[in-house]
Amino acid sequence: MFEKIFYEKNIENHPKTQFLLNKFSQTPNMAIDRVDDIFGRVKKPYLQKRTNLNLFIGEKRGQLVKETPAAYGLLGEPHYYFIHSYNCLYECDYCYLQGYFHSPDLVFFVNHEDILKEMESVVKINKEKGHKTIWFHAGEYSDSLALSHLTKELPQYFDFFKKNPEAKLELRTKSANIRELKELAPLKNVIVSFSLSPKDKIKDHDLKTPPLKARIKAIETLRELGHPIALHFDPIIYGPCFKEDYEELLKSLMKVMKPKDIKYISFGVVRFTKEVYHQVKKNYPDSKIHHQEFIKSFDGKVRYIKPQRLWMLQTIKDLCLNNGMKEEQLYLCMEAEESE
Ligand code: SF4
Repeated sequence: MFEKIFYEKNIENHPKTQFLLNKFSQTPNMAIDRVDDIFGRVKKPYLQKRTNLNLFIGEKRGQLVKETPAAYGLLGEPHYYFIHSYNCLYECDYCYLQGYFHSPDLVFFVNHEDILKEMESVVKINKEKGHKTIWFHAGEYSDSLALSHLTKELPQYFDFFKKNPEAKLELRTKSANIRELKELAPLKNVIVSFSLSPKDKIKDHDLKTPPLKARIKAIETLRELGHPIALHFDPIIYGPCFKEDYEELLKSLMKVMKPKDIKYISFGVVRFTKEVYHQVKKNYPDSKIHHQEFIKSFDGKVRYIKPQRLWMLQTIKDLCLNNGMKEEQLYLCMEAEESE
């Protein structure tokens, strides 16, 4: 799986480091001072992740829990994210990570104890401010579940959220890797949110991810076990059968869950920073993503033109409402009302 493993000397004896070194005992490894000394120091082409992938194991330093950008989650409630990992095994052709780090190598941070300590302070501060719900999002620079059988942090977070019912955790994923979650007693405030697209869009764009059928099966299993489920229709990518594709997707979903079982659904039309868009053109020149025209929009990001975006969002919103979802379950992700 990995070409080489680099681990920071200071966390060599951490149980998670030891677990990984034992698990990959056949893989050459090397002790280093700091992940930052090597990771991304020399630019490694993104697509080398297909043939040559290293793993770095380290300690996350600096601010461990950060406020999310505006319009990230349900409005009116504070939202934070934390970083436990960099990069991803999957290869969605629109992935923003391809323009973010200088390397596609995976980094696992093992000091979840420190992240949880910082979360505790964030909860305390927000409670003092009178906030009744405080959101934490995992998976900002990676997928929350895809490698959770290796990163093994979920029990610690479940323990924390059990003790802090006013805090909510969103585990965002495109994977169907639920084996760790199956071992944990569900909590009302730990929500597994699946990013979904129509089946052909997954085939065309979400390279190496589980197909729609596997993700829906994972949703069904988790729902039956009692884990709260949310959905992201994000990124929405235009195609000739756009409406029919989402109708079919909703039909498949409604076979395994009722509208009221969905905690929320967010929608976001595909968008890129200028740098990521450049990388997408370079790495995936034949992607169907280039079949549509993009413009530089109000915040410098590259998007479809506004009338198209609004039409797409409204179409999917109407489909959800027609399928029995309520207005208050739906929200738009990263799309300001006044945007151009
Ligand atoms: S699952 Fe998310 S992080 Fe992984 S490649 Fe796809 S978009 Fe990127």
